[in-house]
Amino acid sequence: MHPTLDRLANTDFPPIQRNALTTLQVNLGYLCNLSCLHCHVNAGPTRKELMDKATVDQLFEFIDQQSIETLDLTGGAPEMNPHFEYVVTEAVKRGLTVINRCNLTILEEPGYEHIAEFLAKNKVQIVASLPCYSSDNVDAQRGNGVFDKSITALQKLNALGYGKELELSLVYNPQGAQLPPEQASLEKEYKQHLFDNFGIVFSGLLTITNMPIKRFGSTLISKRSFDEYMDLLKTSYQSINLDNLMCKSILSVDWQGYVYDCDFNQMLELPAGIASSKKHISACLTLDFNQQPITIADHCYGCTAGSGSSCGGALT
Ligand code: SF4
Ligand code: SF4
Repeated sequence: MHPTLDRLANTDFPPIQRNALTTLQVNLGYLCNLSCLHCHVNAGPTRKELMDKATVDQLFEFIDQQSIETLDLTGGAPEMNPHFEYVVTEAVKRGLTVINRCNLTILEEPGYEHIAEFLAKNKVQIVASLPCYSSDNVDAQRGNGVFDKSITALQKLNALGYGKELELSLVYNPQGAQLPPEQASLEKEYKQHLFDNFGIVFSGLLTITNMPIKRFGSTLISKRSFDEYMDLLKTSYQSINLDNLMCKSILSVDWQGYVYDCDFNQMLELPAGIASSKKHISACLTLDFNQQPITIADHCYGCTAGSGSSCGGALT
């Protein structure tokens, strides 16, 4: 894979600072039942990296000290971490909002059939990737049979109240080097198609811009279109998105407990702006993140292009 950081590090992106820290986004590990072509962490069934119980307990020490409101769980498939149910239960005990970034198919795998009910019982919000509403495109990106399994899982979630009284968001990202279409109109299309064809309902669609890093960035380099994509991101810059960047209120934590300003910076191994080198969450218990600098590079233009982009979808 081609590295991208050397092409991104020298940046003219405006300096940015944090606001109050409200959300901890935690990568529970790289183990996953799928191995999607576009996966930005190279997750898969043979990966061994998983957050251990000692690190999980350090997370909760941090959460208690810093009055965190939301815990956002990612992976891999977060449900495959052996401490997943403990993490959710501890978070719910503390009154946190819990978000689970779910690939849907895991809910259909042997040994994980009870997870959908567990999530519903704990009112965990689900954010599920469904890069298209057509089976050919989804299977091409994620593997054969993934679309059908995802539909079955969505129907199961609907039967438990998801998409109705429980929050169920779907995530769309473009197949190639374009910006996502307008979120509201694409959501309308998704809602109509999924309801008409499968009787599925969901709360909202989140459109996310592809970042010129990891596998997607490497593909751009191989196709000699990296510079062209960066030009698109830069010429589509909208300063109004700066106020709503996710890094203003999120702290990202890797499976070993090291902190970053966002998930993309974690993938590029760019340490959080509050520290000059990699910092462990256990060393951050009493730090005040408000007004601290955020580590930036040229990929940040992916968050400010057009309608903007974040783990919560478009920004404006
Ligand atoms: S489901 Fe998500 S984490 Fe798993 S391989 Fe696919 S993109 Fe990666
Ligand atoms: S990539 Fe986006 S979220 Fe991450 S630091 Fe840059 S602007 Fe913030």
